[in-house]
Amino acid sequence: MCVKPVPWPEPDPQVVAVIAAMYGARKTPRPLAVQVRDRLGEWLADEQFAAAFGVRGKPGWSPSRLALVTVLQRAENLTDRLAAEAVRARIDWKYLLGLALDDPGFDHTVLAEFRNRVAGAGLERVALDALLAKLAAAGLVKAGGKQRTDSTHVVAAVAALGRLELAGESVRAALEALAAAHPDWLGQRICVPGFVRRYGTSMTSWRPPASQARRDELAVAYARDGYALLEAVYDSRAPGWLREVPAVEVLRRVLLQNYTRIITWDGREVIRRRDKEPDGDGLPPGHARIASPYDTDARWAAKRGEFWLGYKLHITETCDDPPPCSCRPQGAGGREHGPGCAQLAFPNLITHAATTAATVTDNQMTGAIHDDLTAKNLPPGQHYADSGYLSAALIVSEQARHGITLTGPLRADTTAQGRARAGYARADFTIDYDTQAVTCPQGKTSVSWTPCTKGGQPMAVAKFSPRDCGPCPARAQCTTSTRNRRQVTVPSRDHARAQAAARTAATTTAFQAGYARRAGVEGTIHQAVSHGARRARYRRLPKTRLDHIYMACALNLLRLHAYWTGTPLDRQRTSHLARLELSPPHKPELTTRILQRGETRGSPRSAPGCCAMSLGEGGDAGDGAAHDQDVHLVRAFVGADTLEVVGVPHR
Ligand code: SF4
Repeated sequence: MCVKPVPWPEPDPQVVAVIAAMYGARKTPRPLAVQVRDRLGEWLADEQFAAAFGVRGKPGWSPSRLALVTVLQRAENLTDRLAAEAVRARIDWKYLLGLALDDPGFDHTVLAEFRNRVAGAGLERVALDALLAKLAAAGLVKAGGKQRTDSTHVVAAVAALGRLELAGESVRAALEALAAAHPDWLGQRICVPGFVRRYGTSMTSWRPPASQARRDELAVAYARDGYALLEAVYDSRAPGWLREVPAVEVLRRVLLQNYTRIITWDGREVIRRRDKEPDGDGLPPGHARIASPYDTDARWAAKRGEFWLGYKLHITETCDDPPPCSCRPQGAGGREHGPGCAQLAFPNLITHAATTAATVTDNQMTGAIHDDLTAKNLPPGQHYADSGYLSAALIVSEQARHGITLTGPLRADTTAQGRARAGYARADFTIDYDTQAVTCPQGKTSVSWTPCTKGGQPMAVAKFSPRDCGPCPARAQCTTSTRNRRQVTVPSRDHARAQAAARTAATTTAFQAGYARRAGVEGTIHQAVSHGARRARYRRLPKTRLDHIYMACALNLLRLHAYWTGTPLDRQRTSHLARLELSPPHKPELTTRILQRGETRGSPRSAPGCCAMSLGEGGDAGDGAAHDQDVHLVRAFVGADTLEVVGVPHR
C-alpha cells in the first residue's frame, strides 16, 4: 500500500446544503465534526504519514483523513465497525472528510491497518503535534505559559497472570505460534495429545491446584516442556527461521527470568524456580520482567496501594488564566458573565500525552516531557506538578535547561528518621560545603566526606566517627548502624539550596494558592478515564501510546467545541441537597442516623455497632423513642453491608 498525497476535498455541496438546512436557522450548535472542518480547515496532511506507508502498491485511503476518523472515534468511544459505519452514514462526518453523500467509505479493518502502520513507524504524535501547531497559530496554546501534569495507571489488555500461569501460558503461546508457522515440524517433535491436554486451553480458564507442592511440581513441568521445545527449535536440524518466531523468543526470556536450569555431573537436568534473594537465586528487576507472553511491554507496578499490570499515562495541559472579558462587573470583584463569554469557556488544552511502562517513575518523565514540549515550541514558563515529578535536582536542571519553573511540594525527607518523623533526620544536621563537614545535633563533626553519584546526581557521603557515636546518649535517635556510626548523604550545594527554598516556599499561603492550580488536572484525568484511558484497548506499548495520543486530540477537540459554541466548562455539580445548604438558614425538620445491619429502627442508640451520624443542624437522632416516630426511611448499600438511613423528627 502506498500514499498518494492529496489535499482534503472541499465538503460536498449536497452535504453542505443538508448541514445548512439542519443547523443554519436553528440555535442548535453545529456538531463537532462540522465545527472542526469550519474552524480548523485542513490541519493534517497525507505527507506527514508518508513514512508509515510504502512507495509502491495500490494507494489506500488518505492517512490524514483516517487519522481524523480515529480522533472522532476516540471522541465518541466507537468501535472500528461503528466508526466505519459513521463514515458511511453520518452527514457531519462526511462534511468533515469531504465525502459525497453516496460515498461507501471503507472497510473497518482499514482502521486497524492504519494504527499498525502509524504505530510501527513511530508517527503516533503527528496528529497531536499538527493540532497544537494549528492552535498555537490561533493563540490558544503558547510557549512560556502555565501547564500542569499528572499521571494515571493503565491496565493492559491482557490477563493478569501469576508466575505459574505465566510459565504455562508462555509455553502455550509458543506452541500455538509454532503450530501455525510450521505444523508438520511441530507434529513430529512433540507428543500432540499430551501437549493438547496440558496446553489446549488458556491457563486462566481453570483453577490451579491449591496445594503448594502440586503447584511447584506443575511449575517445573511447564519449564521442562518449555526447555524441551526450545531445544527442538534451536536444534541444528530445525529450520533457522523458527528461532525468529516472537513467541519462541518470549518463551526463552520467560524461562530465563523465572527458572534456573543446571545439568549435574551425572547428566541429570535440575530445574528450579527462581525466588527473591537472599533465599533464592534472585529475580530480575521489575522493569525488565515479562508479565504476559501476549504483551511483553506490560509491567507490574504499585502506587499508593494500587497494584496493576500495564502502563502509565502522563497528561500535561495548559492552565493559563482565561483572557479578560468585558462582561458586567458584579459585587465583590466578580462579574456577571453574559452568554457566550469566552472567559467562561476558555479551554485548557492537552499539550502532551506520554504512555510509558508502569515501572517508569513520574520524576523520570519530567525532563522527557519538557524536552518534547520544547521541541514543539510549547515549553511552559511555570509547570505545576505533584511531588512525584519533583526533586531538588530537577528544579535546578529544568530551570537551567529550558527556563521552566517547576512548582510543587518536594518529597518529604526519605531517610528512615525522616519517614518515621522521629530521631535526627537529615535536616537536623548542619552542612558546611566549604570545609566539607557536617555537624550533628550533638555538636560532633563528620570525619569523612566522600563524593559519590546517586540517581545520576552528584552527592557526597559524610560519616561520623564511631568514637563520637558509640558513647553518644542520642545514638538511639540517630542511627541503627551496627558499626556505631551515623552517615549522612549530602546533596550538592545547588540542590540543597533549591531544596531549602522549595521547602520554605511550600509553607507559604501564596504557594498554596498558586499550587491549587495543579488540582485542575485531576478533572482532565477524570475525563480521560471516562474515555477509556485506564484500560488499554490494544496490546503492546506503541499502539497503547497511539491510542492515548489520539484520545488527547479527541479531548482537545471536545474542549474546543465547547469553546467555539460558548458552552461553559464543566463546573462542579451541586446536588439538590447541597443547594439547600446554600439557601437561607432554616430549621431542619429531620436529622438522619445510619444503622448497621441487624440493628432495628427501635433499638437503643447505644446498641453495639450502632453508627450514629448527624447530618443535620440538630445533632444526633436521639433515643429509641425518637426512632418510633420515624417519618422517612431509605435503604442504601455500602460494600457488603446494607445500611438503613432513617429520618426522625428534629427535637
Ligand atoms: S550518634 Fe553520632 S552523629 Fe548522631 S547525634 Fe550522636 S554523635 Fe552525632
